[in-house]
Amino acid sequence: MPMNFETVEVTTDLLIIGGGMGACGAAVEAAYWGKKHGLKVTLVDKASMPRSGAVGMGLSAINLYVGLAEGRNTVQDYVRYVKGDMMGIARDDLVANIARHVDSSVHMFEKWGLPLWKDEEGNYVHEGKWQLMISGESYKVIVAEAAKNALGEENIYERVFITEPLLKDGKCVGAVGFSVRENKFYVFKAKATLCAMGGTVGVFKPKSTGEGAGRSWYPPFSTGSSAYFTMKAGAEMSSQEVRFVPIRFKDAYGPVGAWFLLFKSRATNAMGENYMETRADELKKFGVYGSIKPIPANLRNHLGLLDVQEGKGPLFMRTEEAIANLAKAYEGDEKAFKKKMKSLENEAWEDFLDMTIAQALLWAATNVQPEERSSEIAAAEPYFISSHSGSSGAWISGPEDLSAGSDYFWGYANMTTVPGLFAAGDASGNCPHKFSSGTHAEGRIAGKSACKYILENNTLLEVEPSVVEEMKAITYKPLEIYEQYSGFSTDPQVNPNYILPKQFMFRLQKLMDEYVGGANVYFCMNSASLERAAELFEFLKEDSEKLAAKDIYELLRVWENKHRMWQAESHLRAVTFRDETRWPGYYIRTDKPVIDEENWHCFVNMKWDPQTKEWSVFKRPVIDMFDVKF
Ligand code: FAD
Repeated sequence: MPMNFETVEVTTDLLIIGGGMGACGAAVEAAYWGKKHGLKVTLVDKASMPRSGAVGMGLSAINLYVGLAEGRNTVQDYVRYVKGDMMGIARDDLVANIARHVDSSVHMFEKWGLPLWKDEEGNYVHEGKWQLMISGESYKVIVAEAAKNALGEENIYERVFITEPLLKDGKCVGAVGFSVRENKFYVFKAKATLCAMGGTVGVFKPKSTGEGAGRSWYPPFSTGSSAYFTMKAGAEMSSQEVRFVPIRFKDAYGPVGAWFLLFKSRATNAMGENYMETRADELKKFGVYGSIKPIPANLRNHLGLLDVQEGKGPLFMRTEEAIANLAKAYEGDEKAFKKKMKSLENEAWEDFLDMTIAQALLWAATNVQPEERSSEIAAAEPYFISSHSGSSGAWISGPEDLSAGSDYFWGYANMTTVPGLFAAGDASGNCPHKFSSGTHAEGRIAGKSACKYILENNTLLEVEPSVVEEMKAITYKPLEIYEQYSGFSTDPQVNPNYILPKQFMFRLQKLMDEYVGGANVYFCMNSASLERAAELFEFLKEDSEKLAAKDIYELLRVWENKHRMWQAESHLRAVTFRDETRWPGYYIRTDKPVIDEENWHCFVNMKWDPQTKEWSVFKRPVIDMFDVKF
């Protein structure tokens, strides 16, 4: 079977993998430096860039704008906020580097045509301290267009799924993958490679199963390829235990940010009690982090989840109350009141129409009028999205001028511990809360840094042709397995010789949900459940060798699941290693239910060794570079 697939070789200087916010930032910046120094820059995306990645459907707010020039905030303010929200565990150098560059990415978006809301004086409309309101249905289209114009269509490969890194002498020298539309196997040879393939969805059993299968907060596009790619290259990883559990409008996962920040809404339990008040004492268990403002997102989740576990759910966003409060000032002037109510109603619906259309449909289908009645909110299943409120990803070098010694700096900003391999966005760890704009800025930082690396290490290393042939055979093996065995049973879905990707995914999700703290067990786990998970994981890994695919489309699903499995395994290893509960609301180790600052105020890092195929898990220090006091 592999013989029917043409091999296409592409030789380049810089290979950018992914077409999302990080990759688009990298493309714009690297194209600039590439032109200046005669470097070729190539980008490959599994999907179509204008709608690929987590911003594909659009967004209603840019969640990170520091406002340095306007004097609104300082870099240190942002480091403090991020570190507080992450319960003390973040990289000051990486967070600060993004904070000092992010505003310029936002200004670029505006220049490229993104409509940012302005007030009567022409200033940006802030949703909260760090967020700007946008009319962002076409956000990704605009950002992708700029990236495409910078690189040139001839340097962009869309609908090519990257499967594996190419390695030579301990360096990353490119990547291989397959077209999801044509019978083509791609070999990208590069002097530097920038991994920006987003985060991971589908590791845990989703709350929406049969009736709404596939619906999740995180869009379905990114399935752990960043984690897999960097781990398989032998890169040191960090914070793989940190997952994100968003509380969102129930079932369609509509955003809550505008309600909490712009509309100043309250969330309550079914009895109308505000769990942030009634459960306030619980916060004292989490040391200094329980007393900081804003209260870390996981702790807010935790208080609501305690109510739900006690049978006081469902939880509600008090939309009608928030709208009434905002309109109160206009009471007595009927015309002005009506006008205000109309504009609030418009804003409420636009918030969903900009980024989660399904939530607007669900409201319409269930006769919800936000000005009249509350709407249910609920915790989703866990995801890995380090650009948002997660933190997992590759352990990368910080910038030289903010270096804290060799622990944080090894030559090139955003380079992983594998020479020639860079990471940005959800692919890089420990600089969360960068969101769409910060990820774009980080992509620019990484793109420039990778160009510098190429200029200073200007050799193209190539792997032996036999290695490439073997990778090609492995890539298409699931098709061969299917062809060989599918006639063995009357229904090709059920076969003793292979497992199809959907069944495999269900098995992975069941394992992770039940034993590693999924939504069905209220995100709880203990050492016994983790041991059981590790045991079952070995069987799952054995069976991953027998994944089969009837066509290229299913081959894509096979590889998505192979990648997911590595994200899952690294998570299992990390939550087992960290012997405390630091992020309740995201997960609880019921056998170690308290935070242990003395022993665990540190990063949990890990590495899979491509030579020995062994994992190691170890601690790295958190270095406080800014005088951040909580
Ligand atoms: P993405 O933008 O997700 O891009 C990943 C890219 O990798 C895609 O192009 C994908 O096709 C590609 N890819 C994946 N696997 C492969 C593979 N194997 N081979 C090749 N290509 C591959 N930010 C805000 O600022 N404001 C918000 O309101 C906001 N809301 C959000 C709501 C949701 C539901 C989510 C999930 C995120 C939200 N964010 C928001 C955060 C923002 O979307 C992310 O920070 C940003 O998209 C991360 O960029 P990235 O480049 O790392 O990943």
